[in-house]
Amino acid sequence: MKNESISISNPDKGKLNSTEKFSVALIAIGLLILVLSSLNVKLNNNVYLPISLISLLVGMVIFARQKYLNDLPGIKNNGVWFNSLSSRGIIGWTVGIILTSFYIIIYWFPSLLGLGENGNANTGLVALFDPLSLALNGKVASQWFVYGTLYTLCITGLGYKFILKYRHNRYQIIRTIVVIISQFFLAYLIPEIMEGLNSDQAYFAKDVKNMWPLNYYFFDSWHIDNMKNGGTMGMIYLVWGIVLFLFVTPIITYFVGKRWYCSFVCGCGGLAETAGDSFRHLSSKKVSAWKFERYSIHAILVFVFIMTGAVLYNYFTNTSTIFGLDTYTWLRQPYGFLIGAAFSGVIGVGFYPLLGSRVWCRFGCPLAAYMGIFQRFKSKFRITTNGGQCISCGNCSNSCEMGIDVRAYAQKGENIVRASCVGCGICSAVCPRGVLKLENAEEENRINSNPIAIGNNSIK
Ligand code: SF4
Ligand code: SF4
Repeated sequence: MKNESISISNPDKGKLNSTEKFSVALIAIGLLILVLSSLNVKLNNNVYLPISLISLLVGMVIFARQKYLNDLPGIKNNGVWFNSLSSRGIIGWTVGIILTSFYIIIYWFPSLLGLGENGNANTGLVALFDPLSLALNGKVASQWFVYGTLYTLCITGLGYKFILKYRHNRYQIIRTIVVIISQFFLAYLIPEIMEGLNSDQAYFAKDVKNMWPLNYYFFDSWHIDNMKNGGTMGMIYLVWGIVLFLFVTPIITYFVGKRWYCSFVCGCGGLAETAGDSFRHLSSKKVSAWKFERYSIHAILVFVFIMTGAVLYNYFTNTSTIFGLDTYTWLRQPYGFLIGAAFSGVIGVGFYPLLGSRVWCRFGCPLAAYMGIFQRFKSKFRITTNGGQCISCGNCSNSCEMGIDVRAYAQKGENIVRASCVGCGICSAVCPRGVLKLENAEEENRINSNPIAIGNNSIK
């Protein structure tokens, strides 16, 4: 799909009108304040934090309205393979490097952001967020409060852009409203306010929509003890976490597929769908990527099962080793570093502009792997294709963030039953012929005798 071999010009020249320039200036002001505070330039945090956050949000809203409301509703992927940001050009690489660096700093070098350690006051970027943190939970900010606030801001502002872009499709509007509400209230505002009211219970509220094995520390001894000592709320959370994994997730996935979590509730998915939308087409559609995906995601699922089994064994036997090896050193610590931080955070989001928006969901998330097994073999969810109407335009394959070559299925009129499909529905939303439908219907034979032979290469 790269442009070298085809002689068409960029249909989206990228020229900005004056209102768009104004919105870009607002976004630049918001970012400039964040950068200046990171460089320890002395600012009045009470004044500049709201200016920064409001500038960013209003800038995103105005830009989205200008870009999409002045045009007819419908498919809006003009120029994605020509734009430097969305086609791994110089801007894309620059953004990727900045994002990756930000994640490395936030995980391992938070003092560079100004986190006050050993009782010292915050400085720099973290101090900029102190007023908001104090207002919500009564404590000064941590690097995770800064991260959570910016994360929520991105999902809200870019979620609004997403709604306008796909406003011709009701499923996308509903889905994105749920994503924004879920992030803003369940993952951010309510837990922060609860922390100010009663810090013990807020701890559980923060994780109420995360579940094991995505939340891999759920069965760590400190976490189990916290839940046991957390009164009624703690015990509810413990039981809910187990029931959610063992019963609720398989049952809902049976009826509607894994989309209920991956495309409506999950914070990682929420960011991928909103902030990552401009990069969804960068996912590899190669068969080799599909093969790698199946090895990597299931290997991580096995890893998390083994690690959790060892951790629980240690908890109930009051030991710290298994087969003579220290569980923390050999299992828990490597998983936290390699998978929990490096893969899900640094690569998962930092590499959006290079590898697409769902790298973590596709290649790494153990919860996605778990739900994918049900979706593949025991679920009513599938995407049906009306092959006779397909004009092989490739919009669907191009837009699939999970690297599924949707067009290959459509050309054969074959239902799409894939473990990795997150049910985002974008393939259906961008199809000009109404070929694709996300359906929950009666179960059918889901075991394809030769799934790889369907091909994953039609995008070429
Ligand atoms: S299914 Fe629709 S979007 Fe996909 S190739 Fe066919 S006509 Fe194009
Ligand atoms: S096949 Fe369609 S619904 Fe599934 S992940 Fe790809 S674009 Fe989304």
